[in-house]
Amino acid sequence: MRIGIDLGGTKIEAIAIDDNGVVRLRWRVPAPRDSYPATLTAIVELVRNVEDEVGERGTVGVGIPGTISSATGLVKNANSTWLNGQPLADDLPPLLDRPVRFAHDANCFALSEAIDGAAAGAEVVFGVIAGTGVGGGVVVHHRVLVGVNGIAGEWGHNPMPAPRDGEWPGPRCYCGRTGCIEQFLCGPALARDYVAAGGHALTAQDIARACAADSLAAAVLARYEERMARALASIINVLDPDVVVLGGGLSNVDRLYESVPKLWAPYVFSDTVTTRLVRAAHGDSSGVRGAAWLWD
Ligand SMILES: [Zn+2]
Repeated sequence: MRIGIDLGGTKIEAIAIDDNGVVRLRWRVPAPRDSYPATLTAIVELVRNVEDEVGERGTVGVGIPGTISSATGLVKNANSTWLNGQPLADDLPPLLDRPVRFAHDANCFALSEAIDGAAAGAEVVFGVIAGTGVGGGVVVHHRVLVGVNGIAGEWGHNPMPAPRDGEWPGPRCYCGRTGCIEQFLCGPALARDYVAAGGHALTAQDIARACAADSLAAAVLARYEERMARALASIINVLDPDVVVLGGGLSNVDRLYESVPKLWAPYVFSDTVTTRLVRAAHGDSSGVRGAAWLWD
């Protein structure tokens, strides 16, 4: 049995899957915000409850909203900021009395989709989470590519390629840079763009729904698609993935899967582009499933 833990900002979710990826049990608890010791306790209790319920001991993989620094061994880059600087990878294994594998939640997402999701069978997979932020993960031959700095796939804070008028230097980002891809492709960015163009406050998905009757929404979404195409083309040029899997709130916008691949061709250094853009198969469960699959 494989147990996956998804350490989110508002909830901690556990899943137990068998060798075929069949879910045996799911459990979720509210995340103890702002307390690292309480987070440790919550994880240990979750694992204990799952194992008591199923009656079997499992491997444990944990998806975190950041990464373990190879320099310090401490958590870094987590938007659940109470985890940053904490020795999670040292503290958790003895509490659970077993080795524990950790990965960035975007990497877990990509792994889940590569193993038995929308990119099953693909050699090289780029997983994108486009929601309140923009993250990414790379899976090659069913293994997460971590990278020497632990940031492989983190394309959200690259500058938007081939910037147009008004895109450079672009909006300020919380990371300290300007014009980051995340600042154009996250859900709030699409909503902001619609308001800036004269629309009213709508969510990204409402903007997509409004397109048929609202030419302003259609124009704003078309601009979004063109930006996503440029940003993904730069990934295709480096990684040449078989499949790009889209997750997060924006993955529910149906027309992206048709429009974006038509728009990325001019920016890709190849006569043909067979890379597919597909919607995540496991939806919100991909992260926790991928954490479980950290043990193969
Ligand atoms: Zn940034």
